[in-house]
Amino acid sequence: MTATAPITQDLVTIPRKLPEGPVNLVGLTRPQLREALLAAGTPEKQVKMRVNQIWQWIYQWGVRDFDSMTNLAKAYRAQLAERFVIEVPEVVSRQVSADGTRKYLVKIAGGHEVEVVYIPETDRGTLCISSQVGCTLTCSFCHTGTQKLVRNLTAGEIVGQIMLARDDLGEWPEQGAPKDETRLLSNIVLMGMGEPLYNFEGVRDAMKIAMDPEGISLSRRRITLSTSGVVPEIAKTAEEIGCLLAVSFHATTDEVRDKLVPINKRWNIETLLGALREYPRLSNSERITFEYVMLKDVNDSDADARRLVKLIQGIPAKINLIPFNEWPGAPYQRSDWSRIEAFADIIYKAGYASPIRTPRGEDIMAACGQLKSATERARKSRAQIAAETGLG
Ligand code: SAH
Ligand code: SF4
Repeated sequence: MTATAPITQDLVTIPRKLPEGPVNLVGLTRPQLREALLAAGTPEKQVKMRVNQIWQWIYQWGVRDFDSMTNLAKAYRAQLAERFVIEVPEVVSRQVSADGTRKYLVKIAGGHEVEVVYIPETDRGTLCISSQVGCTLTCSFCHTGTQKLVRNLTAGEIVGQIMLARDDLGEWPEQGAPKDETRLLSNIVLMGMGEPLYNFEGVRDAMKIAMDPEGISLSRRRITLSTSGVVPEIAKTAEEIGCLLAVSFHATTDEVRDKLVPINKRWNIETLLGALREYPRLSNSERITFEYVMLKDVNDSDADARRLVKLIQGIPAKINLIPFNEWPGAPYQRSDWSRIEAFADIIYKAGYASPIRTPRGEDIMAACGQLKSATERARKSRAQIAAETGLG
């Protein structure tokens, strides 16, 4: 491994001043939108109707300017345009993989970048969205984990990722898209950059907006939030979001999990399983997805598979085996295919679904754990060069 000295230090954001100028309506919850409209002079007795109208324009029709809101009076539209904007993050680049996967590099306020990945499948289309720039956690097999956290994304930047993908897929009703679940973007996974439960409020508000029936209207069962195991936030996720839960499990002993997913030192396997046992009841959902990255000679033995089955006994579960996706400098290798299949077989015979996740978009570095913004990649390689030449 190359030394990873303090190379990302300069990425830490200097505390920002509150933004001046117009407020972005994207990302405001209904109560927040109501407050904003009142503050902008909307009469109290009209405000409920205005919230509904504007909400539908933004999230159902995909409109980005007030002038298109034809059921509002011209003078009122002008009044809104003075105070507000409707903005989603800017797409800096868009790559399409040989397998149809699309990866968007997206720029957010402050010049930071995050990645968003769209994965088309025969029966659905899944958008993998990010919740933070970088990640404070340092899972040793994850590319994002080598990037220092810059900041949490706002609710607007999170729901904005869904909106910009719909723009690109041509999926707003105006563009001729169907409203039912045959649509291209039918599922959301919070499995991009960042730990969603360390940005709970931003993620919750964004998902509430995405689930609102008068807008993007995604069912809570089509949203999966993946956490590395932030135990105190798990019950809150069930109660306040109610989406499906995936957990980055990855090991069957605390000794190994401490190394792979260091948050395990704070909340160990037993504590985590306790919270997971409660989740289906609290969220009234069926089963939890256990994600398990297959690392050669680290966590992929038959004994591991048997321990895994024993640990999760009694929890309605599906085990998603993820062949490790390599990235430059990664200290692990992917398990052999025959090993992955043998592991899957033990789990399957114990009565659990054990799909092996086919890596998607690897040619454009869009697969799980490969996400990292381009600026950061460039920075890293400069740092590596410096280290190699002894100047670092
Ligand atoms: N922070 C959250 C969500 C983002 S990671 C979490 O950790 O759950 C999404 C999934 O990709 C997690 O299960 C993560 O463990 C997995 N992952 C990370 N790096 C990977 C890699 N190099 N190869 C395969 N999967 C990886
Ligand atoms: Fe963060 Fe998830 Fe990567 Fe761990 S696996 S470093 S929690 S993004």
